[in-house]
Amino acid sequence: MQRARRVIPGGVNSPVRAFHAVGGTPRFMASASGARLTDVDGIEYVDLVGSWGPMLLGHAHPEVVAAAQAAAARGTSFGTPSATEVELAEEIVERTPTEQVRLVSSGTEATMSAIRLARGFTGRDLVVKFAGCYHGHVDSLLASAGSGLATFGIPGTPGVPAAATEATLVLPYNDPVAVEKVFAEHGDRIACLVTEAAPGNMGVVPPEAGFNELLARTCREHGALFVSDEVMTGFRASREGMWGLDGKVEGWAPDLMTFGKVMGGGFPAAAFGGRADVMAMLSPEGPVYQAGTLSGNPVATAAGLTTLRLATEEVYDRVGHASDVVAAATTEALTRAGVPHVVQRVGTMFSVFFTDAEQVRDFDGAGAQDTRAYAAFFHAMLDAGVYLPPSAYEVWFTSAAHTEEDLDRIVSALPAAADAAAA
Ligand code: PMP
Repeated sequence: MQRARRVIPGGVNSPVRAFHAVGGTPRFMASASGARLTDVDGIEYVDLVGSWGPMLLGHAHPEVVAAAQAAAARGTSFGTPSATEVELAEEIVERTPTEQVRLVSSGTEATMSAIRLARGFTGRDLVVKFAGCYHGHVDSLLASAGSGLATFGIPGTPGVPAAATEATLVLPYNDPVAVEKVFAEHGDRIACLVTEAAPGNMGVVPPEAGFNELLARTCREHGALFVSDEVMTGFRASREGMWGLDGKVEGWAPDLMTFGKVMGGGFPAAAFGGRADVMAMLSPEGPVYQAGTLSGNPVATAAGLTTLRLATEEVYDRVGHASDVVAAATTEALTRAGVPHVVQRVGTMFSVFFTDAEQVRDFDGAGAQDTRAYAAFFHAMLDAGVYLPPSAYEVWFTSAAHTEEDLDRIVSALPAAADAAAA
């Protein structure tokens, strides 16, 4: 870590990997297999981070590794169209309400491009987002809410000019009145509303019944596009993502969607897509520019395609079972130790809030956590060989590779960690 800090800011290439929220020194991983991570000192951990979502099948799945190796041997990048890109796009279109997708290399690129496309298609500038939803480090989406209910965003970080966020409106999540109000006031200037299909970046905050449907309907009524960010939930919450649990059942579809994480099988691959008439606005057929040297990379798309093809309903059952076991045992241990908490879940995804609230419905609720108790819990689990997210605001990601032995190891570590959180 000392060497890393000399040449890499904070020693990490993405801030969330540092142990800023929980204290201590991050572990440097040397290898991973199934549900286990092994660090450079040879210590093994049962993993509940899963690279922040992609590792649905577990680490180093033999068929995914073989597909990536075979693809790499055929050439690591062509800079031309290739068959695997088409197959991956077909797989995404088959599972989602998108008609066309364009492949990119990160979730950030996907949402950035979807926003540009929505603005180009509608000829409008305003973007509506929710406090606590993360869509990557896109300038216009790194907006914090000002004071008041529905406010024009102020930059959430130095380096983002005020001009980049002044066309972004930030609303509280799960608040239909705020949505109706902002559209009543600015509806004819709104290009799109972007939301996580089910927020996972403030911990799991399920959309209340009918909320996404209201967003879709309100956007339609005002000629704005509804952009559903499924970078985290896509091919994770269920085989058809969060849409499969919500829109498919309620009878609505987003105009645009974004994907990442699972669809890349652990490689840099992401996508945005949706209605064919909207996607037709994209370069080269339309005027909205978007491009990428490594977009649709043959190694990444081979790993992603293999991952999606292996991700059958049976896989989602196993991922869901692992979540059932860990969530139930965590509740039991924390309850016994007298630690206030609430577990929230969508599909196979869940997170644990260290709060005495009965329910967390928005960013303010998520913020009211005992992060000190979480830090103690986190370190006790780490010492017992379980790798949890190093922040209280994150999903605990399970995989289809979590065996009963892996789950037992987590379950047996919980009581002592719950005591540490109570202390
Ligand atoms: N959208 C959502 C919902 C995400 O969870 C993330 C990443 N956590 C992103 C976008 C950004 O993806 P990436 O980190 O690949 O840029």
